[in-house]
Amino acid sequence: MGADYDLSKTGPSRNTDNVRRPDLVSGGVSRETMMTVYSGPVFEMAARQFNVIADHLDIPLDERDRILMPKRAITVSCPIHRDDGTVSVFEGYRVQHLLTMGPTKGGTRFAPSVDIGEVAALAIWMSWKCALVGLPYGGAKGGVNVDLARLSRRELEALSRRYMQEMIPFVGPHTDVMAPDMGTNEQVMAWFMDTYSVYQGRTVTEIVTGKPVFSGGTLGRREATGRGVAYLARRVMKELNVAPQGATAVVQGFGNVGSYAALELHRLGVKVIAVSNSTTALHDPDGLDIPALVRHVSAHGSIAGFSRELAFDPAQVLTLPCTVLVPAARERAIDGATAQNLKCRILAEAANGPTTPEADLVLERRRDEIFVIPDILCNSGGVIVSYFEWVQDLQQLFWDEDEVMRREYQILDRAFDQMLARAGADAVSHRTAAMAIGVEKVRATKNVRGLFP
Ligand code: NAD
Repeated sequence: MGADYDLSKTGPSRNTDNVRRPDLVSGGVSRETMMTVYSGPVFEMAARQFNVIADHLDIPLDERDRILMPKRAITVSCPIHRDDGTVSVFEGYRVQHLLTMGPTKGGTRFAPSVDIGEVAALAIWMSWKCALVGLPYGGAKGGVNVDLARLSRRELEALSRRYMQEMIPFVGPHTDVMAPDMGTNEQVMAWFMDTYSVYQGRTVTEIVTGKPVFSGGTLGRREATGRGVAYLARRVMKELNVAPQGATAVVQGFGNVGSYAALELHRLGVKVIAVSNSTTALHDPDGLDIPALVRHVSAHGSIAGFSRELAFDPAQVLTLPCTVLVPAARERAIDGATAQNLKCRILAEAANGPTTPEADLVLERRRDEIFVIPDILCNSGGVIVSYFEWVQDLQQLFWDEDEVMRREYQILDRAFDQMLARAGADAVSHRTAAMAIGVEKVRATKNVRGLFP
């Protein structure tokens, strides 16, 4: 099987024994005349990626929609009282991709970009990720379309609580479990948990993960995604015979994931030479003082103001020469042109969907120059430790941090080995291999359970 990204692949699939002739839309999704609420570049990207995998796995056309299309999408209006006495209404979403594997699991994003297509794509990627690393979950994602810069803390609490209250009929510890994502944090998770618990009349810590440790959270969750990214980057360095002490890293996005990835890479001896956020970047060829930068961010909320001398153009960060490039900001950060200009040896995809299908074509050609750790593996430390938090909450038995990290790294190692073996056996890219393992598990479970009625 050859495979990989062929964007011209919008003609009929290789499954010629299937008589259905679909109207291929959204870059190759096998839907006949279906109207859909899902649209936009992020959803199209997820659908295109899926179609590549479905072709690679020879999945018949009439099975594809059942695997790809989300089971449920909920849209809610969240009215809140503003501090000035007026009322504002924010639109919120939750997409539950598949209920086949167990409860759904996924983050909640508060950002102005959020729409139902983006949320659906993120839910779909969560499904492949959970299946790849062997968690008993389907993917979900949620979000509210909001510019957090325009909300006071009291308004943010009101919005968080109202969003959760609107979701109560659709979520539950064995139905759908929320977690943080861009724009949400431990405090927001605590408000979600409290709101749900008030309605239940008892404390239900297991309704969300990513909570503060002292109210049912787990040790190591805050650090889990970034640490996992650094751990896998370190594993690849070993494979490539690169010593961390001689290596450099660049991190785009200095939020939860980016800052902990930078901190862990720094701790491993890697020189972190540049970091950025949406407005600012810092560059020091001799290596930034990451612990000092983290302290600055916790005191001032941003990397801005850390140093005037080291200020750099954020648009140039991705193409700096380095050993490890960590995109930890947003989806679609690396397009075809940027991929052509990348000067890293390892691309550790910390964000969800940071690489467009066009960029994938380029990375496919540059396979010997750049080792890609695909997002669904690279950032899976977050959901792995969220799973540990859920398990601990259900059992009311809590682990120490070493136990959490040991188990996280064990799962990452296993999934990494499986991805490498599959990429070698099928002669495909790491992304195709990782997604194929995830999609295959979902498909097998759907098929063995059957279709009701
Ligand atoms: P966050 O909100 O804590 O941080 C995001 C960071 O990205 C901020 O520093 C922001 O300024 C920066 N940013 C936004 N746009 C940017 C741009 N154009 N250029 C440079 N920087 C930009 O979010 P997070 O939780 O760290 O999530 C980051 C990514 O990781 C997202 O794609 C998210 O879906 C993914 N992810 C997060 C987790 C988790 O546990 N938080 C787990 C898996 C995947």
